[in-house]
Amino acid sequence: MTSPAGNLAPTACPRCRSGEIRVLGKSPVAAVWTIFGCPTCFYAWRSSEPEENVSPDKYPAPFRLRPDDLADLKTIPAVPPRRSAK
Ligand SMILES: [Zn+2]
Repeated sequence: MTSPAGNLAPTACPRCRSGEIRVLGKSPVAAVWTIFGCPTCFYAWRSSEPEENVSPDKYPAPFRLRPDDLADLKTIPAVPPRRSAK
């Protein structure tokens, strides 16, 4: 590690590139890591993770999301009702 990762503030979400980033938590030992969260796509990452998890340019292209598409994503199927016991 070349710099204290906990002090690096991202400028965009790695997954959707939204500029709205929130700090969700910090390491118990100061400046070791910070957990960031994106309120747009709900991606969360720790500053100490590999570049493909924290950098928008290196985040795997197949898993990227566009904020404009989020409203059209399919919803998770509902859990069916319990079967009656016989
Ligand atoms: Zn995002």
